[in-house]
Amino acid sequence: MSALLINSHHGHISASQRIPLIARPFVSERAAKTLDIVEKFVEEECIPADTVYLRQIGETTQERFSAHPPIIEELKLKAKKLGLWNMFLPKAHFTEGAGFSNLEYGLMAEYLGKSRTASEATNCAAPDTGNMEVIAKYGSDFQKRKWLDPLLDGKIRSAFLMTEPQVASSDATNIEMTIKRDGDSYVLNGQKWWSSGIGDPRCEVFIVLGKTDATNPDKYKQQSVILVPHTAPGITIHRMLSVLGYDDAPHGHGHVSFHNVRVPAVNMVLGEGRGFEIIQGRLGPGRIHHAMRSIGSAEKALEWFLARINDEKKKPFGEMLHKHGVMLERVARSRIEIDAGRLAVLNAAITIDELNAKGALKEIAEVKVLVPALNLKVIDWAIQAYGGAGVSQDTPLASMYASGRTMRIVDGPDEVHLLQLGKNENKRGPAHKKRIEAQTKKGLELCKQHGITVRDPLHLNRKSGEESKL
Ligand SMILES: Cc1cc2nc3c(=O)[nH]c(=O)nc-3n(C[C@H](O)[C@H](O)[C@H](O)COP(=O)(O)OP(=O)(O)OC[C@H]3O[C@@H](n4cnc5c(N)ncnc54)[C@H](O)[C@@H]3O)c2cc1C
Repeated sequence: MSALLINSHHGHISASQRIPLIARPFVSERAAKTLDIVEKFVEEECIPADTVYLRQIGETTQERFSAHPPIIEELKLKAKKLGLWNMFLPKAHFTEGAGFSNLEYGLMAEYLGKSRTASEATNCAAPDTGNMEVIAKYGSDFQKRKWLDPLLDGKIRSAFLMTEPQVASSDATNIEMTIKRDGDSYVLNGQKWWSSGIGDPRCEVFIVLGKTDATNPDKYKQQSVILVPHTAPGITIHRMLSVLGYDDAPHGHGHVSFHNVRVPAVNMVLGEGRGFEIIQGRLGPGRIHHAMRSIGSAEKALEWFLARINDEKKKPFGEMLHKHGVMLERVARSRIEIDAGRLAVLNAAITIDELNAKGALKEIAEVKVLVPALNLKVIDWAIQAYGGAGVSQDTPLASMYASGRTMRIVDGPDEVHLLQLGKNENKRGPAHKKRIEAQTKKGLELCKQHGITVRDPLHLNRKSGEESKL
């Protein structure tokens, strides 16, 4: 085992030293070194810069949605110099990224999740990450040169437009936007909302899901994905939506309409009818990124929690908060939840690396449900420890709660993942019933052989129509 990966019990324990033992065999020496650089960059550069970023966005709505805070470009230059760029593109499938596995990037994403600016500073911000994966994986050479290259360079940003206000969009077969072929073009009509990132003045390309063949008997072949430049005539951004009151400027979440929006046919990704396949492929590793950033958010909430209960200026009823037992119990429970959640995410990342996103469906769904819930629980306890300050703008906790809460909805709400997990788990039901009955029957026979009288707990010997015996 490399020196980098040995735990130290003295002084600062670096990020690489804190990699859970169970994940260490899967982490290269280069990734471990990079992880330490990520930690230092986030803690020493990005978190202090977050305050500057929030101020540089401005005050009025117009200022906020045309802002390009200069601090982000300063951070991007620093990140590039440190070699922290495009770490998200997994090495198994892409040559364009920094050459890490999903697990290795997952470990890094935890630290990125502690700062407002860190993901964008390293060109690892959603929704660009998933969008770049789509174009890298499914795009034509033309599409890659036109949009992937500037995205990989951090020169432009992008948005993913699937959700529509008039239909239940967690079931993507409901999507109604039409994409009709007309000569060398496609023409788009419909509306979208929750188009994240569309407020950013640098957002130049939209990845749009719509229907090219609404009457196809196979409901998974009706959809297509097409790339739409932001300047295409007929696109109107009607308003920006808020998240529990936060506008998330400058990226924002737009409510957008498309009226006879015409784009060249070469912008179609992969071909008509392949839309479902593309959006399925987009979401696998992306969910791991969200989950690991949420672990970072929970870890940051715990750090703020610990800082507050050790503040000697604040002594309710004569004692610092850490002297009140309930607080220490919440600290302990936070530690347990975060550590358990991290192991689950790393396990999902390893499963994607060893099999693929399809082979890791169960593990991905597990963390998609588990991690947002634990993140919210830990932030909530931290907020409680701060009292009024906790829900105010004076700590980052309130905005962390708002953005953490969305994770139970985005990329499929909890219920969809739970239903799928429950259905799959339940497939094992009949086999278990059979095995338990066989074991019980054998137990009853053994009892009989040993002269022991017992009840037949599962009523196995009861014939249909017969009255149950006690
Ligand atoms: C901050 C934020 C950012 C987003 N960014 C994007 C983006 O960039 N691009 C994009 O296209 N979309 C985006 N979305 C939209 C998001 O993906 C959808 O809101 C989500 O998929 C749910 O779809 P819906 O809102 O239409 O809810 P619906 O599909 O109407 O579902 C409503 C509720 O019904 C329940 N439900 C659904 N299915 C089941 C079921 N099978 N069993 C039981 N209950 C169920 C759930 O409680 C669910 O929350 C974003 C949303 C938010 C909040």
